[in-house]
Amino acid sequence: MSALLEVTGATKRFAGVTAVDTVDLSVGQGEIVGLIGPNGSGKSTMVNLVTGDLMADTGSIRFRGEDITALPAWKRARLGMARSFQMIRLFRSLSVSDNLLLAKHAGMETTLGDSLMGRAAAREEEERLRVRARELLAWFELEAFADRPVGALSIGQQRMVELARGVIADPTLFVLDEPAAGLSPPNVDRLIVLIRRMRDEFGMAILLVEHDMRVVRDLCERLVVLDSGLKLAEGAPAAVTSDPKVVEAYIGT
Ligand code: ADP
Ligand code: MG
Repeated sequence: MSALLEVTGATKRFAGVTAVDTVDLSVGQGEIVGLIGPNGSGKSTMVNLVTGDLMADTGSIRFRGEDITALPAWKRARLGMARSFQMIRLFRSLSVSDNLLLAKHAGMETTLGDSLMGRAAAREEEERLRVRARELLAWFELEAFADRPVGALSIGQQRMVELARGVIADPTLFVLDEPAAGLSPPNVDRLIVLIRRMRDEFGMAILLVEHDMRVVRDLCERLVVLDSGLKLAEGAPAAVTSDPKVVEAYIGT
């Protein structure tokens, strides 16, 4: 069976630096894969190549059996890809629930969707989304904050909003770029539980970029390690994190 996501030989250069250098990466249906490596090793760039926020210089990307190498981010989102950002990107002055409703619309191209569906169907879809947003706010224990502006929430709560915002699009693959960044240890514990439940209950695969080793060891079935843009190691978390090459790359930073 072919993988859900299959990146082959991805390369991305910026002036003077090869941020990602001929990297292969696959994610299976419902799998949780960790992408780790020291600061500046190319993790965020790799994630951006997967989601289409950056275009690869060379290499190819297949998702759900389709060649998506040349597709822009919004088309990849439509095919079932969601992401979160290392630096939280939410509409800070809008309420938590409006952030969720807008997330879904962004992937749907509302105006076009409305005219194709007809107004009654569009209204029905709108209502379905409101119900789903309420369900997800409960799932992420955010109900009490539904009408508050996102900017008034703690970082931990904002991270939860980002996750809910991805989940409402019902993705097949959710790409998370350092979701534990800035979280207190108890919030990291909670995040680990929620990410595992997201996979188990919603069946989505997860590509997880994370600096916190505890998070990847607890959650991931497989790890891919980058160092200076190159794939340094790949395999089961216990084996990879005790690999002398990997230990050295981390100590070297
Ligand atoms: P990581 O997420 O692992 O910390 P990044 O993918 O952000 O690493 O960065 C990898 C390398 O590419 C770094 O040397 C970084 O400085 C460089 N880089 C990333 N984005 C850009 C950009 N937009 N322009 C120029 N250089 C960049
Ligand atoms: Mg990064």
